[in-house]
Amino acid sequence: MINTLTPALFEKYPDAHALAQANPAELEPMIFKSGFFRQKAKSLIAMAQALVERHGGEVPRTLDELVQVRGVGRKTANVVLGNALDVHEGIVVDTHVTRLAQRLGLTTNSDPVKIEQDLMEIVPRDQWTSFANRLIWHGRRVCHAKKPDHDHCILAPLCPSATLVQLPSTRRPSKRPPKAAEGTKIGKAAKAVKKVVKKAKPRSGR
Ligand code: SF4
Repeated sequence: MINTLTPALFEKYPDAHALAQANPAELEPMIFKSGFFRQKAKSLIAMAQALVERHGGEVPRTLDELVQVRGVGRKTANVVLGNALDVHEGIVVDTHVTRLAQRLGLTTNSDPVKIEQDLMEIVPRDQWTSFANRLIWHGRRVCHAKKPDHDHCILAPLCPSATLVQLPSTRRPSKRPPKAAEGTKIGKAAKAVKKVVKKAKPRSGR
């Protein structure tokens, strides 16, 4: 939905300066279909004004600066930095990354910041962005929240959750790790990732 709205939006407001001066009454209908359009219009304008006032209309290139901008949290900051600016300060942890990292045995945490730290330890920095993107696509296409398609999953040989028929959704994370985490297979995927990482030549990734 967002991708269908942005072409017209960017045409009317091609940069932060234009968006900072937007009239909410004109902006709201353009983002109406995305839901919460009034609040989002306010946030978009405030975000653009902050970019103009504090950063000369440019998107800052550090996580610390980005999360100070209205409407931008750590997840969004990592998306923007990694995908738009090729700056890798962290790993995007959304609902898909959370679910897959837990199922694959790469973390036993449910807090996004702790999950991010666990993943940053085992994934080479220059792959932080692509790793999250791959988990997100795998979560959308194969490892669904309610009905993971174990039978068609290429990660099944490595995955400690492959034999579970029904897995809990991570929308309301349990304080306890998934059942597989208590078994002996947990951590096999993490070890496999670490093995690959050891062979990889570390780069700054910027
Ligand atoms: S084997 Fe199943 S639980 Fe593991 S990643 Fe694949 S679909 Fe998800």
